[in-house]
This record gives sequence, structure tokens and C-alpha cells, in this order.
Amino acid sequence: MSAALLTVLFAAALIASLAVKFWLATRQMRHVALHRDAVPQAFVGTIALPAHQKAADYTLAKGRFGLLTMAFGAAVLLGWTLLGGLDALNAGLREALLPRWGGMGYQLALLAAFVVIGGVLELPFDVWSTFRIEQRFGFNRQTPKMFVVDLLKGVLVGAVIGLPIAALILWIMGATGALWWLWAWAAWVAFNLLVLVLYPTVIAPIFNKFEPLADESLKARVQALMTRCGFASKGLFVMDGSRRSAHANAYFTGLGAAKRVVFFDTLLAKLNPAEVEAVLAHELGHFKYKHVTRRMLLMFAASLAGFALLGWLSGQAWFYTALGVRPNLGAPNDALALLLFLLVAPVFSYFISPLLARWSRKHEFEADAYACAQASGADLAAALLKLHEDNASTLTPDPLYVRFYYSHPPASERLAALRRRAPAATPA
Ligand SMILES: [Zn+2]
Repeated sequence: MSAALLTVLFAAALIASLAVKFWLATRQMRHVALHRDAVPQAFVGTIALPAHQKAADYTLAKGRFGLLTMAFGAAVLLGWTLLGGLDALNAGLREALLPRWGGMGYQLALLAAFVVIGGVLELPFDVWSTFRIEQRFGFNRQTPKMFVVDLLKGVLVGAVIGLPIAALILWIMGATGALWWLWAWAAWVAFNLLVLVLYPTVIAPIFNKFEPLADESLKARVQALMTRCGFASKGLFVMDGSRRSAHANAYFTGLGAAKRVVFFDTLLAKLNPAEVEAVLAHELGHFKYKHVTRRMLLMFAASLAGFALLGWLSGQAWFYTALGVRPNLGAPNDALALLLFLLVAPVFSYFISPLLARWSRKHEFEADAYACAQASGADLAAALLKLHEDNASTLTPDPLYVRFYYSHPPASERLAALRRRAPAATPA
């Protein structure tokens, strides 16, 4: 492969992905706008027109903003690569730091500088999304002060977790020879498992408060459900999700059959106990059918392929020059290779994302079926409707957009499937 060929491939993939993204986004917005004035037939009587219109307006606002972030993201990517941004940053840091901090220090500084610059560039978009869009539709609960505190905590946690794993991977890349990518992958997998174990007890409490579920009757109900499904609970907790956002959720954490159950307080405020039980039964379905494990295994397999590819690419001079970077002569190129790979790989992997989305939608149907068997399908349907309405999710997405992006089937399809399973499932 030559540098010119990779440059052309990269540019072609970038243009093609932008064209597809733009086309899908405008299709979605047109479709939602066209159906704004009438509640779809299947939801008449359950969703009021103002709620339907709010969902349409929210979807359109996010869609327009999405087009802007997409264009900006592409400009930043080009700036880092073909326009020489990463090359300039690398040259500057190498000259300033290599003599004093050595190869590892300079490379860690390069990674950190890249992350910080990227974060600063994205910050205005985060601010706009939180304080303009989410605010306008009544979802934001964050104050500017909380936003800043979260930001600082995030930077700190990112540094404490990110710098050691980055140093470990860089060390492996430099010290373990031709098969470094295999060792680096093993370290990456071990790191991910460690974060999974530490997340609920160490990381999540930095950002939110967790209190044991106090509602005794709901507690008994959830315990009974978990016993019925063959899970042990490591504790039921309520998280103060309402501090930041009105969006509702529930999740499980923990490895094996012992799970910590976390409810957002916003979920408990919106759903009645039977509906909460049905939502949890759906989540347990994901575990029962090993969706979570399979997804994780796929992620590990994909990262093995990624590391193997990087193992080959990082040794080719054309990999760097094709993407606008002159490789270092008297210093390690490992951090540069990592950054280039992380920048460019998503442009190509975008085209397989519909397969993952389809896989995920299949899992959602399976989990819904499980919930119907272990709890009430009618309650699950009622919960889905409430959550859809509260989150202002559109009921009239563009079918092609759904096929490409949606990790969850649209409400109409999920409710239709529930109705087939339990004919009394929905009031419609
Ligand atoms: Zn699900």
C-alpha cells in the first residue's frame, strides 16, 4: 500500500460517510416534520397531540444540532490529519519535552494534549446541548456550577484512570516486540474488566448519590422478580439522576448472577411499581439471554482485530504520511500511531454500525418477550409509552433512519410485538 492510496481511501470514506449521515439526518427530520400535526393512528387516545408535537420539535432541534456537530467533527478530523494539526502538535511537544521527559513522558503529554484540545473544542457544543436544547424542552436540571464541577471531576477521573492505562499500553508497545499488539490487547481487556468491577462502587459515586431503595413494597416486588428469574441482588439503589436530567432510566451492574440494581429517581417518580417491575424484567432478559456478555465478547474481538491491524500499520511509514503526520525519527511513534488510528478508524467502522444496531434491536425484542413471560406485558407496554412520552422520543421516525441507527426498535414496533404476545397489552 502506498501513502497516496491510503489518503484517497480515507478521503473517500470520509466524504461517503458524511454524505450518508447528512442524507439520513435530513430524511429523519423531513419525516418527523411531515407527521408533526397528527398523532399516529396506533397512539391516538394514549399520546396527546401536544406531547407528540413536543417530541417532533425536540427531534428536529436535536437533528439540526446534529448536522452542525457532524460538520464540525469532520472539520476537526481533517484539521488533525490531512491539514497537519497532529503533526504540528507532535513536532512542538517532541522538541520541548523529549530531551527533558524522555520518550514515555513526551508520548503521555502528546496523548493528554490531544484529549484536552479535543475536549476544549467540543465544550461549546456540550454547553449548547445542555443549556439550550435540553433546557428548552425542560430536561436539563444542571446549573452552570454543577456543569463545571462535573467537568473538573471528569478531567480528574479521566487522568487518574486514563494516564496509567495509557502508560501501560505505550510501555507494552515499546518493550514487548513484534507481538506487542496481543499483549496490549490483553492489558486492554483486563483494564475494561477492572473498570466494570470498580464502576458501581468507586467511579459512579463520584458523580451521583446512591441510596438504598426505601420503598418496602417495591423492594419485595423486585426481590421476588429477581428470585423468579434466578438472580441474586447485591443491593437495590436509587440514584439521584434528577440532579442532572429529567430523562429516566434503570440499570444493573455487577458480574455473574449477583447484580446491583440502580433505579434513577426519575424512573421511580414516573412509573408505578408494576411498571418498574416490567422494566426490570426486560433488563433481566438481557442478562438471561447473555446479550450483555455477547456484546462484551464482540467488543473484545473487535478490539483484538483493531490492535492487530494497528500492530501492522504502526510499522509502516505510509500510514503516518498518508494521514498528514511525519513519523518521528529519534523517538517512539507509538502514541502517534494510537492517535491516528483512533481518529481514522471510526470513519471506516461507521459503515458496519447498521449491523450492530440490527443486532441490538433483535435483543430488545427478545428482552421484551422475556419480560412478558416473567412480568406483565401490559405493564411493560404502559411503561414504554410513558418513557417515550417523557423523553419526547418521536413516534414517527424515518424507517430507513431506524434501520441504520436505532439500537431500540421504534415504539410502534415494540408495542405491536407486545400486543401480539399479550393481546390486552395496550389500550390502543
Ligand atoms: Zn433493552
